[in-house]
Amino acid sequence: SVKHPAGDQLPRYVRVNTLKTTVEDVVDYLKRDGFSYLGKASRLEDLSLKDRYFLSDLHLPELLVFSPKTDFHDHFLYKAGHIVLQDKASCLPAHLLSPPPGSHIIDACAAPGNKTSQLAAIMKNKGRLFAFDLDGKRLATMSTLLLRAGVTCQQLANQDFLKVDPDNPQYKDVEYILLDPSCSGSGMVCLQDNTSADQEKEQARLASLASFQLRCLNHALRFPSLKRLVYSTCSIHKQENEEVVAACLQQNPGFRLVPLLAEWPERGLEPLPQCLRASTAKTLTHGFFVALLEKHSEPGNTKQ
Ligand code: SAM
Repeated sequence: SVKHPAGDQLPRYVRVNTLKTTVEDVVDYLKRDGFSYLGKASRLEDLSLKDRYFLSDLHLPELLVFSPKTDFHDHFLYKAGHIVLQDKASCLPAHLLSPPPGSHIIDACAAPGNKTSQLAAIMKNKGRLFAFDLDGKRLATMSTLLLRAGVTCQQLANQDFLKVDPDNPQYKDVEYILLDPSCSGSGMVCLQDNTSADQEKEQARLASLASFQLRCLNHALRFPSLKRLVYSTCSIHKQENEEVVAACLQQNPGFRLVPLLAEWPERGLEPLPQCLRASTAKTLTHGFFVALLEKHSEPGNTKQ
């Protein structure tokens, strides 16, 4: 049985940046640096570590797991872009989208770019990665992060994704989209506060976020060559997660959900068990939601 950890008791996750190094090399470096490697985790409980022990994650091959207080911000491997400090749950969207090298991709709400750099690593820097963000400052931070990570296949634009024209010939080969829009952030353990703020204000805020998220989703599905789209939030609210996805599927009957990782311990709430959820209690991560949509291969009603 897994205890319910507070934010500062969650394991620390480190994603190995395969554009610059390999898991093996990072493990060797850390062993020489005084950490003790325990191999690959086989159960979730293994991820509760002490001191300088570390493991390979049981779900994500490029992820290493450390004890809660481990800090890599001043570490050489971080400064050199060999590792990215990214919560396990937030590694799921790019991992599940898994765009092949050479493909054209959109990262619709991309800054500060952790998922963009992960996408580039999965694509081995081959193909085109169009990344948009409305916030210029966050986009500047993102440029630095991508430079450090050795990403070269990106094209950044300080642009409102909702105003990007799906019929622009530039995007005619875009088959994959990652959509990680602004959300309430209610899954971030450090942001959770139990002093219930003004309930009415909170409801209005959630409704406005959900309507923005649905507009982004509907807009993304208009790109003509789109095959797969991954939608994610760091929210625990059904209103920003299952409800947005259910409304979108109803409005876009040409798309359906892909059932995700059978071995993952936490599912989307009814009626969307194909989706994944993450939480401190069940997955030892921040709160998170992921859905993968795909276009039907057969156009409807073509039975002969
Ligand atoms: N995917 C990012 C990562 O992994 O580092 C985090 C993205 S964050 C959850 C959401 C981002 O959406 C913010 O940087 C925000 O500025 C951006 N954003 C909000 N509205 C937008 C819009 N209409 N078009 C493009 N970006 C938008």
